Amino acid sequence: MTSRHLVYLGLGTNLGDRLNNLERARILIQERIGPVRIQSSVYQTEPWGLKDQPEFYNQVLLLETGLAPPEVILDVILHIEKEMGRIRHLKWDRRLIDIDILFFDREVLQLDRLTIPHPLMEKRNFVLAPLAEIAPDFLHPVLEKTIRELAQTSTDLLKAEILAS
Ligand code: AMP
Repeated sequence: MTSRHLVYLGLGTNLGDRLNNLERARILIQERIGPVRIQSSVYQTEPWGLKDQPEFYNQVLLLETGLAPPEVILDVILHIEKEMGRIRHLKWDRRLIDIDILFFDREVLQLDRLTIPHPLMEKRNFVLAPLAEIAPDFLHPVLEKTIRELAQTSTDLLKAEILAS
């Protein structure tokens, strides 16, 4: 029997039809990684880094998966990003879809190409706001604080608001 893992993924997009990009990524993620158990609202967020670009739509998903180790999930994610035609010019540049692994169970992993928990998440409202909506009591395995605490003490001043429907 394969063991099941709980994975939090952070999605972001600021190019083209952003709601459609999130939906398409979610469908591909479900097909290839595993069922989405919880999804946050979609948040509209101010861009980090380069200011002269459209606002992002961000969402966090909790999935159940039989895929392991997390490097396998990273490969699937990179493939989905490529398939969806991400245009990579500059760091922080506009993007069709960006998918990050935020947590993989409560594992701590530091490899050349993969760091889990995702670094700097505690400094990014675009991650903390949707994550706090669906997992306020999840304990960050390195910082040993809940997501609620991290969201409340975030020093990030950039806006992250639920998208008005
Ligand atoms: P970016 O597009 O700026 O998010 O960077 C993508 C690259 O970050 C990937 O090619 C990964 O090798 C690396 N990376 C490191 N840690 C993570 C993580 N937890 N989730 C996704 N990508 C990661």
